[in-house]
Amino acid sequence: MSRVTKLEALVYTAVRDEPYLGTLRPGEEANKHGYFVRKGNKTVYPTVDRSVLVRLETESGVVGWGETYGIVVPRATVAIIEDLLAEFVIGREPSEATEIHDDLYNLMRCRGYTGGYYMDALAAVDIALWDAAGRLAGKSVAELLGGRVRESIPAYVSGLPKPTLKERTAFAQEWMALGFDSFKFAAPVADDGIVKEISELRAALGPDARIACDMHWAHTPDSAIEAIKEMEPHGLWFAEAPIATEDVQGLARVAQSVDTPIGVGEEWRTVHDARLRYQAQALSIVQPEMGHKGITEFMRISEAAVEKGIDVLPHATIGTGIFLAASLQASLALKGVVGHEFQHSVISRNHGLITDGIECSQGEYRFADGVGIGIEPTEKLIAALV
Ligand code: MG
Repeated sequence: MSRVTKLEALVYTAVRDEPYLGTLRPGEEANKHGYFVRKGNKTVYPTVDRSVLVRLETESGVVGWGETYGIVVPRATVAIIEDLLAEFVIGREPSEATEIHDDLYNLMRCRGYTGGYYMDALAAVDIALWDAAGRLAGKSVAELLGGRVRESIPAYVSGLPKPTLKERTAFAQEWMALGFDSFKFAAPVADDGIVKEISELRAALGPDARIACDMHWAHTPDSAIEAIKEMEPHGLWFAEAPIATEDVQGLARVAQSVDTPIGVGEEWRTVHDARLRYQAQALSIVQPEMGHKGITEFMRISEAAVEKGIDVLPHATIGTGIFLAASLQASLALKGVVGHEFQHSVISRNHGLITDGIECSQGEYRFADGVGIGIEPTEKLIAALV
């Protein structure tokens, strides 16, 4: 028994030469708060990378770490954690992470239970609780979740953050030479069009490479079907997020009108979002994103997918490595995981921010045995938190 005595939230900011998804494109301009709208998907992005970290302490001195997205208005997430959630976690046992998760979720059900910032805050707290629970028990999170069912996870190279198709193609070839055979490109930055993008990548990477397209919710159902059918002759591995999240029936129609598997799920909040879409047969690959869900909901979404025969291919984007570690721990313990996203541009730049343990080489993630989520923030990262 070792109850939580302290819980705080902190922001990490990384100024990148090359922001996530590449530099500003013609017609895109950052406003005075450092935000710009990517024309290809009408979504706001910051010109820096940011994360919100949670640090909790227990009576016995064990520390647990969690992380969520902080790319937009990180202080909103910090306020939710420190002003609201912390006092409902202090005094409780990390080993009750699932019960605490559900109690915190229930606090706001009648006021907009799907709220993005609220669920991000809850995800970070949830990861910190699981981390502390593992450390208190002397076990990894994968062990707490039932134990490893695999020792490595196939990784696909995602986001080719180069300004031109020629450079993106050459970049993908470099990764292929390093032993990776699966790739995903982002439609909003495919300036020459998605058909040109996939045909050039296919020509450069050969017939056996797997190539997926992240369509960033930009289409109507009809235009998504047309776009996917245009890419199919070039060998499309899966089509990610083809239409607006809100249109469940539209997504089902897309999934049933094309031969390509549809992958979705990064932006969902809970297993309830998942079930609606599983029942509608709207996807064949689910892409849970740990930074938005935390371990409790990530497991629920994935286990419900496995019951339906849906493949689990976790999504992974910007972060310091803490929620990536949590995602890999869960993925090592989950049946039905067919691979995991590898954001090389983010991970390579996080070198020195977290302790060693995660390796991604020759097309596979490996994660050394450890306790909790298996890694910790280094002094360098801790010193940079505000
Ligand atoms: Mg995506």
